[in-house]
Amino acid sequence: MKKLYAAIFFFVALLLLFCIYTTKKTDKKNLTSMLHTAFWMAFVAAFSHVFIAITQNIVVATLAYFVFYSCINWILLALLRFCISYTGLSRHLNKDYKVLPRLGVLLAALDSLVLLSNYFTSAAFTCKAILWKDWHEYFITEKCFYFHFHIACSYLLAAAIFFVLVFKIVRCPPVYWSRYLTVLVCFLITIGWDAFFVLNRHPVDFSIIGYAVAAVAILYFTMIYKPNYLINKILGHIEDNSEDMLVFFDIDGKCIYANTSALRSFGYRVTNLDEFQNVVSDWLADKGFEADTPSFSAMCSKVINGKTYHFEFTYHTLYDHGVVEGSFFHIRDCTKEVNSYNEAYYKAAHDSLTGMYNLEYFSETVSGVLKMDPSGWYVIVTDIKGFKFINDLFGKQTGDKVLVYYADLLRRSSAPNNVYGRVANDRFAIFTKNVEEAKKTFSNIGPELGALIRNSNFPIVIHAGIYPVTNPAMSVMSMVDRALLALGTVKDSYEVFIATYDESLRDKRLWENKIIGELDGALASGQFEMYLQPQTDRDLKLCGAEALIRWNHPTEGLLPPAWFIETFENDGLIIKIDYFIWQEACKTLQRWKRMGLDDLYISVNISPRDFYYVDVYKTFVDLVKQYDINPACLKLELTETAMITDSERRFVLIDRLHAAGFQVEMDDFGSGYSSLNMLKDIRVDVLKIDMLFLYKAKDVERSRIIIKQVVVLARELGMTVVIEGVETEEQLKFLLETGCDIFQGYYFSKPIPCAAFEEKYFKTDK
Ligand code: C2E
Ligand code: CA
Ligand code: CA
Repeated sequence: MKKLYAAIFFFVALLLLFCIYTTKKTDKKNLTSMLHTAFWMAFVAAFSHVFIAITQNIVVATLAYFVFYSCINWILLALLRFCISYTGLSRHLNKDYKVLPRLGVLLAALDSLVLLSNYFTSAAFTCKAILWKDWHEYFITEKCFYFHFHIACSYLLAAAIFFVLVFKIVRCPPVYWSRYLTVLVCFLITIGWDAFFVLNRHPVDFSIIGYAVAAVAILYFTMIYKPNYLINKILGHIEDNSEDMLVFFDIDGKCIYANTSALRSFGYRVTNLDEFQNVVSDWLADKGFEADTPSFSAMCSKVINGKTYHFEFTYHTLYDHGVVEGSFFHIRDCTKEVNSYNEAYYKAAHDSLTGMYNLEYFSETVSGVLKMDPSGWYVIVTDIKGFKFINDLFGKQTGDKVLVYYADLLRRSSAPNNVYGRVANDRFAIFTKNVEEAKKTFSNIGPELGALIRNSNFPIVIHAGIYPVTNPAMSVMSMVDRALLALGTVKDSYEVFIATYDESLRDKRLWENKIIGELDGALASGQFEMYLQPQTDRDLKLCGAEALIRWNHPTEGLLPPAWFIETFENDGLIIKIDYFIWQEACKTLQRWKRMGLDDLYISVNISPRDFYYVDVYKTFVDLVKQYDINPACLKLELTETAMITDSERRFVLIDRLHAAGFQVEMDDFGSGYSSLNMLKDIRVDVLKIDMLFLYKAKDVERSRIIIKQVVVLARELGMTVVIEGVETEEQLKFLLETGCDIFQGYYFSKPIPCAAFEEKYFKTDK
């Protein structure tokens, strides 16, 4: 019998060893490792009972009892820690909660110490051999004060565990009760079982069996058993609260479940599952999927109650060991995403004001069309002349109105396959086959646009550059560039409105880019040179010269100004060249002065653009001071254009220049928009008339009359008249007759380098 008990305890110990094995200790302080500690303690306790059962030695028995009782409190302590973690209380309590387990450790340690001291003091219990069922059994015959202390410790720990579990159960939703109730019940049974042995004073203490069974049960319920209904319930919640729709079918294709979202989206009730099934089957058929396709996903748009929805749906067949168990749909309503994507896409592709494509999208669309149909197309870019003025004079709102109206008009009066885009402020691109119709549209649009500007007769003119698409493989951006190049040739004109691109325009652009890039280097390396063209008086005696620039280009040879002046004027670089010539002229005048030729003058050209970049007055005053020359020897040639832009300030400037001693000439008089009226305001000293302009006219006789009369007029106004472009003796004779003062032209000399000029005139003169 004694051996049977030993065997039972041994078996219990083995069971616990198994638990120890399953809960393998890890480094982390997780739930498993807490249980692991408890199992070790229980194992030691059970094993001590094996000793109690088989020993014949009172000392061994007493020690075994000590081990057993000590272990009980350590087990309870480990369980308490486990419960605190398991119930998640550790996360909710603040740091102070750590006091609780520490207090437990203190209690258990104190208890162990007291029990150990019993060996010497017998202050806790007395162990004696008693005769029970005809064998000697070591039994606790006397329980003293310290033993009761031990019991109190145990029940305190047990109570703590009890409260932790009850606290959790009270606070958690009912679905979770089972998780904690199972532990609580196991625990209470164990305590009851233990109490039975404590009170009953049964000679053999089987309480450890209770602990072992409870340990296994707790291990099972907390670590292994996953309550299905809890998971089901949670999954149910997830499905029902999910925005996504879930629809399940059985193996016969019958709809067995649809979550709330699915039913709500299609306006069905749970009872209408059959009807609902037809909706989904229709989708499948729509997309051309067979019901037995294992899985697929697709996008699909549906109109429900007049509103368009976009769905992304995924279909999956469910298998278990290769056997079909059913299938389900996962449908996601991505209407919002699709709409916002479309909106963003629209915004990215369209101009927000006119709703026309922007340049990028215009290019994309046009290149798409060209791939399908590459021939017969034109890219046209139009420009609203003076649009900046509309904005400045009538306000941005009016400007916008003009743009919107223009865009609408273009759209309305066009062939359906035309593509339109707004490529810059007031520039629109048209991609069309019918260039004549397009021309008609924007040629006649002006008055209609002008009418938009209230109380005004603002003339609106549309300029256009046309690029015939000869190479459809070219990038659309380059086509637009070419149309722009063509546009650039007419955009300032009041006579020509439409220009068609040809390759020379591109060559011109390339040339311009080249020389703009080379300008600084050319100036630094002395490639520019001042040429002089002599001017003579009525006695045909040299009186001065006009300074004209030449570019000794290392690869292009000697370049006359026609090759570069306009480009540099457009780019504002002209001032660099002009300043160079002004300096050269001053240096030359200084040298002449030193040679005693201080009655000769040099006329320099001032580009209208120079006024934007320098203070012309200050520049010239500084120059004559620096080179110590007489300002009257440096004549300043201004064109009519330079005088009429910002005329008020120009008039003041001319007066100041006069005051500083300079002479101002009006170059190319009669070639531009000069009005006789202007002559009364501008006090120029010299009128310079180009014969070439006049002689280009068919009626030479009339030209002569004009020259004659202008000379008379100039005389009356106290101005000197210079005639340039004198090529023949006959011309000279006539000019002398009319009373002109000064002559310049090939008849006397072409412009020549300064050194050659000095060589020619000073050597022979002297
Ligand atoms: P411009 O100021 O009217 O200069 C007179 C032009 O007429 C010069 O051409 C001159 O060579 C040319 N010319 C003079 N006599 C005759 C003639 O009898 N027959 C013909 N066919 N032509 C004659 P160039 O030197 O080619 O200069 C052309 C234009 O370039 C100038 O016209 C002027 O507007 C501009 N230019 C020249 N040098 C400069 C400069 O340093 N600065 C600025 N801003 N413009 C300059
Ligand atoms: Ca000139
Ligand atoms: Ca001239």
